[in-house]
Amino acid sequence: MSDLRVRFAPSPTGYLHIGGARTALFNYLLAKKEQGTFVLRIEDTDVERSTQESVDAILQAMDWLGLSYDEGPFYQSERYDLYKSKVSDLLNKGLAYRCYCSADELNAKREAAMKAGGKPRYDGTCRERTDQPEAPFVVRFKTPRDGNTAFVDRIKGTISVENDELDDLIIQRTDGNPTYNFVVVIDDAEMGINLVIRGDDHVNNTVRQIPMYKALGYEVPEFAHVPMILGADKKRLSKRHGATSVMVYREMGFLPEAMVNYLVRLGWSFGDEEIFSMDDLIEKFSLDNVGRSAGVFNPDKLLWLNEHYIKTGDPQRLAALLAELLETQGVDIENGPDLTAVVKTLQERAKTLVEMAEGAHFYFVAPETYDEAAAAKFLTQEQRPVLELLIKHLGALASFTLADVESAFKALMEESGLKLGKIGPVVRVALTGGTVSPSIYDVVSVLGQDAVMARLNRALQFLD
Ligand code: GLU
Repeated sequence: MSDLRVRFAPSPTGYLHIGGARTALFNYLLAKKEQGTFVLRIEDTDVERSTQESVDAILQAMDWLGLSYDEGPFYQSERYDLYKSKVSDLLNKGLAYRCYCSADELNAKREAAMKAGGKPRYDGTCRERTDQPEAPFVVRFKTPRDGNTAFVDRIKGTISVENDELDDLIIQRTDGNPTYNFVVVIDDAEMGINLVIRGDDHVNNTVRQIPMYKALGYEVPEFAHVPMILGADKKRLSKRHGATSVMVYREMGFLPEAMVNYLVRLGWSFGDEEIFSMDDLIEKFSLDNVGRSAGVFNPDKLLWLNEHYIKTGDPQRLAALLAELLETQGVDIENGPDLTAVVKTLQERAKTLVEMAEGAHFYFVAPETYDEAAAAKFLTQEQRPVLELLIKHLGALASFTLADVESAFKALMEESGLKLGKIGPVVRVALTGGTVSPSIYDVVSVLGQDAVMARLNRALQFLD
């Protein structure tokens, strides 16, 4: 074990999106690689927008991706007593103050400041106030006015701002609830987080949080801000660029290993390698190879990776995944060929599990009708002798292995003088209803003798 402690801290206000998943993955990988600790914290202080459904969706997506955590999930909503006591501490030490300015007053101040060409920042009216009127108030953090706040980001290098650029942040609202920037600091410190890896949309928060660490007497952790993910048009990734929810990709038939491999390359690289298993990543990942420029989301590449993982995947595992999918589609897989054998015939052809399920349908459901154009061409009286020969040769087999099926076809071709090019399409339409399928020998042997005979006989009846 090392003493590295990292965390993923999603707000449960929606599904786990691509950017969040990548942040979670980077944290997970570094923790695994360094044998540190990966903490999961649910940031549910926004009561109106946080839902249990979102929490469940996030946990499910992390589980699907294989991102297990060592501690948590901790819920901020269960830690209000701690946050309140920290507000009191700061008030008692004079490092925070009650602010009684009303919304209208604040708006007027903001407008006046902007008119004068300044930043729309709180002017500090209540900063030195000593009375405590019976009126609603927020608590503000007394951000230092002098000097600057700087840190060395593990990805971006030194980042520094003048403190007088920073506002006196509200740390407790009128309703008594603490605010995001404040509780993040307390939690990261109390949970012993020593490296915060998060999206670079948080850089502005970091410079506001650092003075709070100091005021609260905490050690400031290290930070690594990961560049944004953009769409192909270089705009921030959004639904316009395709699905942004990780779990929607699962529904579309993507494998988690493809998703993980894809996500890691949105910002991280290792020479010109593209294919990484989780174990590879745990060995190779480091923040040193996280680039400073934004990652660009490329759905084609994700599809390419998925295709790779389907081609090279363990057929038995793919069969288990396919079974779930076929069941949800109402396909009865109990009375049909062995699903692993089916998968083997489709691995070279399917880019997604959904495509694989489509391709697998005919194995379990005999064609009720034939593709019209195909039947007009390949199921006519002219093909009667072909079907009869097929029935004779395949019906005579005592076992139905791939080799048996191949030799039956050979015998048939010798006897009839017909070429496979003539026979193939006829068998294919008769067995699958259409003109595309895996190799015909595979289809015949995997379907099995009973199904093949039934379907050939049915095609023969169709001729009549
Ligand atoms: N809860 C924040 C979010 O979902 C992340 C906070 C953080 O990583 O510090 O954007």
